[in-house]
Amino acid sequence: MLPALDALLRATDPAIADLIVAEEVRERDTIRLIASENYASSAVLAAAGSVLTNKYSEGYAGKRYYEGQQEIDKIETLAIDRAKALFGADHANVQPYSGSPANLAVYFAFLKPGDTVMGMALPAGGHLTHGWNVSITGAYFRAVQYGVRKDTQRVDLDEVRDLARKEKPKLLFAGGTAVPRTIDFAAYAEIAREVGAIFVADIAHISGLVAAGVHPSPVPVADVVSTTTHKTLRGPRGGMLMCTAAHAKAIDKAVFPGLQGGPHNHTTAAIAVALHEARTAEFKQYAAQIIANARAMAEELVARGFALVTGGTDNHLILADVTPKGLAGKPAAKALDEAGIVLNYNSVPFDPRKPFDPSGVRIGTPAVTSRGMKEPEMRQIAAWIDLVITNHADAAVKARVAGEVRELCAKFPAPGIIL
Ligand SMILES: *Cc1c(COP(=O)(O)O)cnc(C)c1O
Repeated sequence: MLPALDALLRATDPAIADLIVAEEVRERDTIRLIASENYASSAVLAAAGSVLTNKYSEGYAGKRYYEGQQEIDKIETLAIDRAKALFGADHANVQPYSGSPANLAVYFAFLKPGDTVMGMALPAGGHLTHGWNVSITGAYFRAVQYGVRKDTQRVDLDEVRDLARKEKPKLLFAGGTAVPRTIDFAAYAEIAREVGAIFVADIAHISGLVAAGVHPSPVPVADVVSTTTHKTLRGPRGGMLMCTAAHAKAIDKAVFPGLQGGPHNHTTAAIAVALHEARTAEFKQYAAQIIANARAMAEELVARGFALVTGGTDNHLILADVTPKGLAGKPAAKALDEAGIVLNYNSVPFDPRKPFDPSGVRIGTPAVTSRGMKEPEMRQIAAWIDLVITNHADAAVKARVAGEVRELCAKFPAPGIIL
């Protein structure tokens, strides 16, 4: 944090000031491989930490329920215009509080309770909000779930088509949280059109790659595009919905007054900043490098005997089955955390182990790429992952790697971290 801001916070609340600094040190000194995380820039953090948090502005620009919107209307309009320009969308709503509420708003826009939704099952790599049973979307709607093929570990679009023809969903989701391959949005769109479903492309993980043109865009084939703003897009925590002109009214009404109250204007401003950053040449380079880094990491892991879901990656994410190395995903993730390498344990498709103790780990390259790391660093990190998993009970090995990780991190300063 900026010293001046730290001093202000510390004067009021030293306990929280200390904890924030400790987290900043942790983020600085460890290798962040959680595929959904990133480092927002100082510009994004500045907007997110601004007085805009003070303002109520239920409604939309020009149609608010409170006065004093002179600046807020301009900020939200800028964010909307930038989102539309960046993704080529007809319409954008930047008010969803995060990815999950954005998706829930889509249900509210098009479905009645009990109507059928179809999405990828969570254990296959889908998201909770695509109809998984413990989610409100699985409890209040009739959810039909597709998976991946056992042989390829990829989505079987023939299965999706057959299931859609049989179940006639009103909403069809594409996308997920653990999908290491390119998504064929046009194929989903065709299936949705055939069965009369609204097609929602949830690009929460990959929106930065889509914005940079290194992953195919769901615009204009998707009726609705849902995304978070804090993953590869590298903005503040938040959500956005984009859609065709025909659905604009329904989406806006569903977000407000359907689901939410006042928009988080500080977040809206920070989203606008992130969208501005995403149009730069540097951002395009960053997005291309994310993929190059994931490929380099995948190659090195395969060479070291890890079993990668689908055999590799097309995007920012790798799902690795670590059981061939003699350890399950959870103890592997714990051992790596002790060595300064932070990732999450994850189920692999058809995982014979339980969700709380699965076979795999998920590895993402967005955050390390934001620090400027490239292929040689990815190979080094893969070597450390192998070393720590192979020696998971050896405290000296973990301590040594943690020290080497700190040294590497010192050479690659993270955006937004000022210590
Ligand atoms: C992360 C994610 C979400 C939810 O985002 P939150 O901001 O955590 O609510 C929704 N869909 C997909 C595919 C995601 O990866």
